[in-house]
This record gives sequence, C-alpha cells and structure tokens, in this order.
Amino acid sequence: MALNVAIIGAGFGGLCMAIQLRKAGVTSYTIFEKAERLGGTWRDNTYPGAACDVPSHLYSYSFEQGHDWSRRYPRQPEILAYLDRCAGKYGVHRRLRLGAEVTAAVFDEAAGRWRVTTADGEHGPFDVVVSGVGQLNRPRLPDIPGLGEFEGTSFHSARWDHGHDLAGRRVAVIGNGSSAAQFIPRVAPVVARLDVYQRTPSWVIPKPDGAYGPGLRAAFRHLPPLRSANRRRVNRFIESVVYPALVDGWSRPLMTRRATEHLRKQVPDPALRARLTPAYPIGCKRIVLDDDYYPALTRPNVEVVTDPITRVTRHGIETAGGTLREVDTIIFATGFLTTDFLAPIEVVGRGGRRLGEAWKDGAEAYLGMAVPGFPNLFLLYGPNTNLGHNSIILMIEAQVRYIMGCLPLLGAHGPMEVRPAAMDAWRRALEGALARTVWQADCASWYKNAAGRVTNNWPGPAAAYRRITRSPRPGSFTFG
Ligand code: NAP
Repeated sequence: MALNVAIIGAGFGGLCMAIQLRKAGVTSYTIFEKAERLGGTWRDNTYPGAACDVPSHLYSYSFEQGHDWSRRYPRQPEILAYLDRCAGKYGVHRRLRLGAEVTAAVFDEAAGRWRVTTADGEHGPFDVVVSGVGQLNRPRLPDIPGLGEFEGTSFHSARWDHGHDLAGRRVAVIGNGSSAAQFIPRVAPVVARLDVYQRTPSWVIPKPDGAYGPGLRAAFRHLPPLRSANRRRVNRFIESVVYPALVDGWSRPLMTRRATEHLRKQVPDPALRARLTPAYPIGCKRIVLDDDYYPALTRPNVEVVTDPITRVTRHGIETAGGTLREVDTIIFATGFLTTDFLAPIEVVGRGGRRLGEAWKDGAEAYLGMAVPGFPNLFLLYGPNTNLGHNSIILMIEAQVRYIMGCLPLLGAHGPMEVRPAAMDAWRRALEGALARTVWQADCASWYKNAAGRVTNNWPGPAAAYRRITRSPRPGSFTFG
C-alpha cells in the first residue's frame, strides 16, 4: 500500500497506529511529536507517585504483553519504559520527528490530500492524517485573580518542577483529583506545611496495589497464557462490576459503600470526614483509586481548606472571609483542557471548513473517529471515547484496527468522508446512551464541556465499542 500517513502525537495512540502500519508493511508514515521525547501523558506526568490505576497487564497493548511488570498497577517510569521498548522493537522511532509541533493540517481538495504544518514549514502531501493527541495533554491553569503576582514558585502537576526542593517549605495544592491524590502523600511528609484547597471532594476507593513477588513475576514471564488469563480476568471484572456503577446498575450501591467505608476507616475525625464526603453520586467525576491520600490528609502538617479561594497575593492564597495563608509554593493539580481536543491545531477540511467551527457546540465524531467535511482524517481517543472505568488502550486498539480497515477502502476509492446522516444517527444513539449514565448528574467534571454536554466519555462497556468498530461500513461514507 503506497499511502502516506501523518500521525500527530507519539503517545499510546500515535505509537499504536505507527506499529500497526509497520506490521502491515506500510513504511510511508511520519509521527509528528511536539515534545523532545515520545510517551504522551506518561512523558509529561512525572510528579512524585505518578502511576496508573488500571492494572499493568490490561494497561498494555494486546499484541505486546510480554513486559515483565514489577507490580499490579504500573508506575509512570515503567510505563514510559514500556512505550520506549515497543517503539524500539517495531522500529517506529525511526519515523518519529521530535520537537515537531503540528500547528495546522489543511485538506487540499484538488489533490485530495493533506498538508501538515510545523514550525519548520509544510510537510506532505499525506493521504491520511491520524490524530493521536489525546484528551489530557494541555494543562489547565485556574483563572484566579492575582495569580501573576505570586512571588513564590508555582507549577502544574503535569509540568513538575523537579529542580524545586519542597523540603521544609509551606506548600499549597489546588485541586484534588487523581493527580493530586497521588502526589500529596509523597509531598506531605517532606514539607513544613501543606494546604490542600478542595473545591469538590472526590470519591476514593482502595487500590489493591503491590509489587509482584518473584514467583508470580517469573510465572507471568514464562507463561504467556497466564498473562492473558490475568488480563481477561481483570477486564471481565471491570466491565461487569465497575461499569454497571456508572449506569445506575447493581454495583452502584456497592461502590458507594466501599468508598464510604474507605473514608470511615482512614479518616477518624468526623469533621474532616464530613468535608471529604462528596454530595454527588459516585462515578459522576472520575473515581480516585488510592490508599495513601486520606491518611496524608490526616497528618498534623496538612490542612484541607474548603473555603473558596478569592485571590492569590504576592505571598499566599486568600479565601472567602479574608484569611490569607502564606506559602512558598503553589502546585496546580487543576487538570487539563479536555474538551478542546485537537485545539490549538488549525484543522481545515473540505471547502475551507474549520474543525473549531464545526465543533463550536461541542466536539463530536462518528464512532469518535471521523468528522463530516474532513475526509481521511481519523481521530484516536477522540470525542466520546474516553472510559470512566477501563483501560483506554482497549479503545485505542479498536480505533487503530478500524482505521487500518479504512485504508484499503480509501486507497481504492479515494478520500473517504463520513456521511452527515451517519453522524446524525451516531449522535442520536450516543445521546440516548449518555442520558442513562451517572455523568449527567449534578457535578462538574472534565468529561463535560462548558455547556454541560458530555463530550469525552463513551457511555457503554469497552467491549461494546470494540464490537461496533470491528470493521468500517462503507455505506456510512462517501468516497472521492
Ligand atoms: P482533574 O481530575 O480534572 O482534577 C482537577 C482538580 O482541580 C479538581 O479537584 C478541581 O475541582 C480542581 N480545580 C480546577 N480548577 C480549580 C479552581 N479554579 N479552583 C479550585 N480548584 C480547581 O485533574 P487530574 O487530577 O490531573 O486528573 C485528570 C485525569 O487524568 C483523571 O481524571 C484521570 O483520568 C487521569 N489521571 C489518572 C491517574 C491514575 O491513573 N491514577 C492519575 C492522574 C490522572 P472541581 O472538582 O471542583 O472542579
């Protein structure tokens, strides 16, 4: 196949695409990566304690399960090493352009091909563009008055300042999602004082983590069927026990009880416990899996501040009522610009149509991958393909398989563009399914855009998505 493919991003998605192209014998692809290293979110998030809350054997490519995982839940350095190894094994690092941030992708209608722009000029033409930029790649800084006046050190959790020694300092953390819950237990013991600014409490459930013993590790290493069986077991449990909690199924009360028990056991002080008890149903925001977060909050040098922040001053943070807590360092654990998807890349399709304009009411794509008016553009981990319960790699692999199925079609018949009718039917089905999920409840989360529309999550089990994306339906597309 002599197709030329541009892949944007060298995280789990972009690398998976490149590997499958490579396995299919396609060598005419280029991975454009804005950073100086591959790894995506696992390159960016180096904060102390960074880890995944999907078990190791499931948080890996199905075709590359041979990694000798050291523990049940993988930590950031080991995941990054895994990605490096995969890229090296399949030789895709040779097609990787580092420090090449894509600023624009423009479809040339006359030629039926794409051109991609980076700081060093235009590249292409490409038959196909595959975006693998992810949903959690641009840090979100809060819009708090006075932020620019702070004279201490401040940084975002995904841009951890490793040169800044936190020992003995007075530190403020803003935010208490999964990232904060992981680094707070590492930071709390070394700092003089830690103020955790919590706007909305998270639901937290235990994380059955631990290092694999040498016996089990050797067994996994030498018995591939055991590895696969473990992967299947974990997947089955997540899909049949965790997923129903997100759609008001039988396990919702069970999960709520588990989280409430966890809080009761780990936080003896009833006043603190009350402040840490969420008032929204479990799963509405991303559930935090952690055993060390609550104990860290009970330390004498840690205060959970729930008064709203009014402003940042030169020396600290002021809350409603006028209390100023002076600090040396502010760490923003305030999440990411999740609903912007490909922004700030300027994507221009047929007839000069801009993706930002097409998505002005919220990002959407057929199967999360294809957008009417943008022929031969495919999105990995695009709109409504995030999971609230399972490994995103399952979704990415399904998408890559689907795109691989599209290549012969567009190779034979010319640029393929999803029909608006297929997009409409997809939107209707999605809306119906989303209406039954817990994400619609009254809570703010990174799954929703400013208008409250759930643009990020897939409402079904991962298996259902894999089923419907098994192969492309040519009737959903126009060609040429
Ligand atoms: P996040 O879940 O979006 O949490 C952001 C936090 O910042 C929330 O507590 C939010 O409060 C708070 N916040 C935002 N703006 C604020 C403001 N202006 N004032 C006060 N508080 C503010 O971000 P994250 O923790 O970085 O996690 C993002 C996602 O990455 C996770 O949900 C998960 O999918 C993934 N992740 C996974 C792991 C893991 O596998 N264990 C670890 C880290 C990240 P509100 O809730 O009130 O908005």
